[in-house]
Amino acid sequence: MPEKFPASEVSVAEVWKLLEERVAPLDPERVPLADARGRLLLADVKADLDQPPFDRSAVDGYAFIPNSSTAKLRVIGVVKAGEVASRAPGPGEALRIFTGAPVPAPGLAVLMQEDAVVEGDCITVKRSLTPGENVRVRGSDARAGDVLLPSGVRLNPVALALLASVGEVRPVVNGVPHLAHATTGDEIVPPEATPGPGQIRNSNQVLMAALLQNLNARNSPLHQEHWGDDAAHAASRLAAEPFASADLILISGGASVGEHDYAARILENAGFELPVRKVNLRPGRPLLVGFRGKQVAFGLPGNPVSHFVCFHLFVRLALCRLQRNTPAKWLKLRLEKPLINIANRRPTYWPGVMTRGDGLRIQPLPWNNSGHLAALAEANVLFLVPPETQELPAGSKVDTLIVGAPLRS
Ligand code: AMP
Ligand code: MG
Repeated sequence: MPEKFPASEVSVAEVWKLLEERVAPLDPERVPLADARGRLLLADVKADLDQPPFDRSAVDGYAFIPNSSTAKLRVIGVVKAGEVASRAPGPGEALRIFTGAPVPAPGLAVLMQEDAVVEGDCITVKRSLTPGENVRVRGSDARAGDVLLPSGVRLNPVALALLASVGEVRPVVNGVPHLAHATTGDEIVPPEATPGPGQIRNSNQVLMAALLQNLNARNSPLHQEHWGDDAAHAASRLAAEPFASADLILISGGASVGEHDYAARILENAGFELPVRKVNLRPGRPLLVGFRGKQVAFGLPGNPVSHFVCFHLFVRLALCRLQRNTPAKWLKLRLEKPLINIANRRPTYWPGVMTRGDGLRIQPLPWNNSGHLAALAEANVLFLVPPETQELPAGSKVDTLIVGAPLRS
């Protein structure tokens, strides 16, 4: 019989529901185009002028009235891009014109220069033209007021160029969260240090920064610092900027119930409501989720594998909500190799490698314990092993979350 869990321990699904309910999208903001890549456009963008704004030549050549009976035309002037011709060519006349220059009258066509023979100030036309040939007519791409980009599109490079083309230099886009992250623990030293006895390098700081960057949070200001095990110091840092007003506060380590695990205490003392303190999952049971006004805080377990799993299962969802991104879908994928003798009373989120062979398949990765960071290096999925599962045979379908890009073929 599965052991009964304390009422304070919530299920993964309950945490998801809570995040859906409590994490509100950030207010839209206007940002310069240089900061807008990857954001969601949140207001329709219309053409300010007809596109193109005037009839323009598509080629370098000669503009004239097509179908004029004479094949020989007198060149009356030159117009290049950015200039305006003083007059339009009449019958028997041609205007030297370059790509992008305004075609001075309706009904003209432009002959490519390759199709003209130049003799002094005249040309001989080698081929006949139809009206409008090689002329990009005003408004042929869009009319002033037409919606060029509807609200809701993600701003890729072409969309940004389109915004620039209509003078929308500060589009309305989704707000991005201000992120403040603290790692904790007296035993933690910077990655460049040589650990002394009992010391561990700070891998979670690097992991967190990179995970956040991967999640389209690259526009977000991220502040990171390290706190030791002194709760008073940590509390004072939590009360100071940038933690005081960050949209998303992340504290790695110290989320459990040991004497030095102060994350819950300092969050509560700072006015955070903590509806989640423990989650029924493996790895990553000690997980704190807190809310204060519109601010969201997570206390993540310090063990690197737990840290990784809790990030993907929970922090990622909160980030999606804040930034109005669609949360990643869980897929049902088949195991390529069996997973044997794994019974645990908790649902386990197991690292695996997704391969693309005959359809998408999962290979479970060997995984010893929640500190086993090397096991994760290749992982691009987490999949659910339900509680009390003795064995998952090859071919079993498992609930899978993609957590990384690389796919081995
Ligand atoms: P904690 O959650 O603070 O109890 O830490 C659990 C385990 O994770 C301990 O073995 C810590 O040394 C380790 N740990 C905590 N923080 C980090 C970190 N920033 N980088 C690497 N390991 C960590
Ligand atoms: Mg600790």
